[in-house]
Amino acid sequence: MLRLTDVQLPLDHTEDALVAAIVARLGIARGDLIAHTIFRRGYDARKKSAISLVYTLDVEVRDEARVLKSAKGDRQVSVAPDTDYKFVAQAPAELASRPVVVGFGPCGIFAALILAQMGFRPIILERGKVVRERTKDTWGLWRKRELNPESNVQFGEGGAGTFSDGKLWTQVKDPKFYGRKVLTEFVKADAPPEIMYVSKPHIGTFRLVKMVELMRAEIERLGGEFRFESKVDDIVLDDGCVAGLKLADGSELVTDHVVLAIGHSARDTFRMLHARGIYVEAKPFSMGFRIEHPQSLIDACRFGSSAGHPILGAADYKLVHHASNGRGVYSFCMCPGGTVVAATSEPGRVVTNGMSQYSRNERNANAGIVVGITPDDYPGHPLAGMEFQQQWEAKAFELGGGNYNAPGQLVGDFIANKPSTQFGTVQPSYKPGVTLGDLNPSLPSYAIDAIREALTAFDRQIKGFSMHDAVLTGIETRTSSPIRIKRDDRTLQSINTQGLYPAGEGAGYAGGIMSAAIDGIRVAEAVALSMLETGKRG
Ligand code: FAD
Repeated sequence: MLRLTDVQLPLDHTEDALVAAIVARLGIARGDLIAHTIFRRGYDARKKSAISLVYTLDVEVRDEARVLKSAKGDRQVSVAPDTDYKFVAQAPAELASRPVVVGFGPCGIFAALILAQMGFRPIILERGKVVRERTKDTWGLWRKRELNPESNVQFGEGGAGTFSDGKLWTQVKDPKFYGRKVLTEFVKADAPPEIMYVSKPHIGTFRLVKMVELMRAEIERLGGEFRFESKVDDIVLDDGCVAGLKLADGSELVTDHVVLAIGHSARDTFRMLHARGIYVEAKPFSMGFRIEHPQSLIDACRFGSSAGHPILGAADYKLVHHASNGRGVYSFCMCPGGTVVAATSEPGRVVTNGMSQYSRNERNANAGIVVGITPDDYPGHPLAGMEFQQQWEAKAFELGGGNYNAPGQLVGDFIANKPSTQFGTVQPSYKPGVTLGDLNPSLPSYAIDAIREALTAFDRQIKGFSMHDAVLTGIETRTSSPIRIKRDDRTLQSINTQGLYPAGEGAGYAGGIMSAAIDGIRVAEAVALSMLETGKRG
């Protein structure tokens, strides 16, 4: 199989044009092309009047060696790499001990799935409820202002990404093609097949809920066991090694291999781990606001007259600005055609994030506009960043009116530094509601200054970005984990606690669904190899 990259065709080309482009590029007769599949399809929208599709293709040809020889020196023709996933281990039938996976977000899902596929029959502990029940609780905050601290946007089956845009791309290095394994398993669980090849795949909330249920069923079929509403409260240590876990209901589970995939919002668990002496260090994260514009404005700016083309879908953007006070400001988790959501997991706090459905056809585009925060901004102990987040989330709750409304301001007023009193052409989507006013007190002044400057700068890249009526909703704090639960690069175990595998976003080793899932695979492999080794010794 040959891989052909950078094949460009107009947006509205025919299938025949694609075949013609392949044979022309390879210099072969049509009859010598046996088959072709699309490995990746992106687009080049730099020239709005002539947006093109850009393909990477896997092609089967007659006499591959000859074609390869004649393409020698052409860097866009090569042998297609083998991207199939290979298991690193298989559990022996007599293996009595079972690994435990704490948390069933993307990282825990893939750690559990891979362990189950290798025969290790993991036990999965998840503090939240099964996804259907959890969905009701999550809507309880959005519709009725009722927060369940154990079942919400952050906690429960499926993890933090369940009510999301379901963006699946990542910039992490992936030399072993684990990302393909993730996409393959998602498609098996009923994700849209196109995620295998579109350059920026996304799934959307409703479909994610169903996929999570199917993946749970598959893990159970392979011998995995689930315990929902089972919060890990404490860890049992024996001479620097994990010996077991204590659950909130008072029960104890004996185990010597624990994948800790708890996400970035498990602040009580972070405290427990720190108190037990597990090595934890502060790490940078970002804070800011969500911004909402009409999606049509973003579409027109990015796609010109091709806006609305079904292949292009709703347009996204990615923006970065280096502010004069030295702070970096960037767009985060952009959700085309989506809604801003209440994403707190703690009472008395307000946190924003964004989600969408697969169709991405809501009226507004939203994205976080966030500022880099480093441990120098909150000096102190390793959990000081987490407390810093909490302090600002509580302030946002207060500014919103103390009823889970989020504080908001129109972009024009924010730039002019005057409070907002009424919405204009952009209606905010955040539920339960937005309380207009002055966002100045909602973030540290250096962050406010940097965002104010960035909004004007972003307008030079997307005309209308700083339009008066665009809405800012505060505050975005859970952009990534404020800590790293440091692990050994080779064994992937905590640097001071054997048998503990900190993983995914909460441990500081991922940012987003895809990278968390990939980390879950890596850690599952490390656990499996260690369990086989322990089995041999024991
Ligand atoms: P999580 O998904 O946070 O999962 C951790 C799990 O551990 C949770 O289910 C939690 O209940 C459980 N847990 C925590 N503590 C305990 C304990 N003590 N005992 C038992 N269980 C515990 N990323 C993208 O890539 N694309 C997007 O479009 C996107 N949109 C998002 C939208 C929203 C609204 C949110 C909140 C996040 C979004 N993200 C998105 C980020 C993404 O969801 C996270 O990066 C990802 O879920 C991290 O995966 P994880 O498995 O490491 O942790």
